[in-house]
Amino acid sequence: MDADEIRSAFLDHLAGRGHAVIPRASLVPDDDPTTLFTGSGMQPLLPYLLGDDHPAGRRLVDSQTCLRVQDIEEVGDNRHTTFFEMLGSWSLGDYFKPEQLRQFWDFLTGTVGLDPARLYVSCFIGEEAHGIPKDDESAALWRELFTAAGVPADQVELGTEEHAARVGTGGARIAFYGNKNWWCREGSPERMPVGEPGGPDTEVFYLFPHVEHDPTYGEHCHQNCDCGRFIELGNSVFMKYRRTESGFEPLPRRNVDYGGGLERIAAAALDTSDVFRISLLWPIIERLQELSGRTYEDETLAMRVIADHLRGPTFLAVDGVRPSNKAQGYVLRRLVRRAVRFAVDLGIEDNFFPHVIPTIAGIYAGAYPEVAAAADAVADLLAREEQVFRRTLRRGLERLEGHRDTGVTGADLFVLYDTYGFPVELSTEVARAEGIVVSRTWREEFDEHMAAQRARSRGVSAPRSR
Ligand code: ATP
Ligand code: MG
Repeated sequence: MDADEIRSAFLDHLAGRGHAVIPRASLVPDDDPTTLFTGSGMQPLLPYLLGDDHPAGRRLVDSQTCLRVQDIEEVGDNRHTTFFEMLGSWSLGDYFKPEQLRQFWDFLTGTVGLDPARLYVSCFIGEEAHGIPKDDESAALWRELFTAAGVPADQVELGTEEHAARVGTGGARIAFYGNKNWWCREGSPERMPVGEPGGPDTEVFYLFPHVEHDPTYGEHCHQNCDCGRFIELGNSVFMKYRRTESGFEPLPRRNVDYGGGLERIAAAALDTSDVFRISLLWPIIERLQELSGRTYEDETLAMRVIADHLRGPTFLAVDGVRPSNKAQGYVLRRLVRRAVRFAVDLGIEDNFFPHVIPTIAGIYAGAYPEVAAAADAVADLLAREEQVFRRTLRRGLERLEGHRDTGVTGADLFVLYDTYGFPVELSTEVARAEGIVVSRTWREEFDEHMAAQRARSRGVSAPRSR
């Protein structure tokens, strides 16, 4: 099954179990000053998880486009992209653990056809201080499912990830962790205000046995190890508690929130630990190979970054974001410009967006009609953005090079930003890659120049008071 088939099969699988299929929400959340982007399937549904009635009912399913700029440093590894799709399903006060875990299992092992013997899970270890029990219930349900498939399912208590790396799991199928497997908006039980909902989370991983454990991530490999041998496919949050003065009480209405990464499930289906090999990303990599005359094997990082950094902006543009110097528009610009910079490293000197953006739009045109409808306009918009940046890129790079002996300060970075359109994160990254020293206080200096410029422009545009 390719990624498109997996997405449709997921929606069908849950629709067949009484879930209403709802459309993806925009990458730009409306009415939410706290965050720039939709970063999970749960985010747009939070009001309903907290008690509002959803117009489509109590069982919902979707595929949500997500953007996590906070994962930008991770792009380059085998499984993180800033843009991805999260397959989501919800029970709002309807079914609970047994039905959900059975659905999750049937989808992965039945519909997608993953090998049950390569699935591993994690559950919540409990919190004695707050009277929250260990999630033995989820573990028992998993054990039943594994056993019925002929896979022995022993368990181990690990607690923190540091401890897990020290002691290892002995290959246990079910591993109990602490806060990693507790969901609440504050991250841990003790930070939750009275009345706040939370609950245990159980996660599913796929093992890639041919990936060797990398000891820089800790002595022993385990479900949550970051070496890339285990890949988290998805998780289910069972929202069932509410914080009280002294501990926790059961919520009157319990919810299930399931989220699984489409790209990762598609990679597992292909039996590759590299998400860039799947049908949503590989055609972009192929295009980059043609345009650069280089191979993915030799230029893995640059090609992964470019492929990733052009998907997000394509969807951002479809969702109405325009390049600018603030908020969402700045992030679009930052991603696009970083992609151009990596393309220059690959020796792609000409404007190449017109050859790549239509490929991306084509990949999503079937699943998302709004992408098909906006494809030409988006390609034009992003192509113009590339052109503008290319014009000043070389001069900007030369200017940066001029600081080789002196190092760059926040003031220099501001000039690069203001005159040449270099997002400051990009110029610091290029400088470091080139071995040019970046002043330790660059951020403060840059911010001061930025604030001064804002004050100046207010002075120019504001009406005179006298
Ligand atoms: P990880 O620990 O691998 O970064 P996560 O704990 O951040 O994952 P969640 O926030 O639980 O992930 O998101 C649910 C699912 O979405 C994950 O199980 C994974 O399949 C997928 N996912 C999360 N972040 C990314 C990403 N940056 N790129 C691709 N898929 C992702
Ligand atoms: Mg993450």
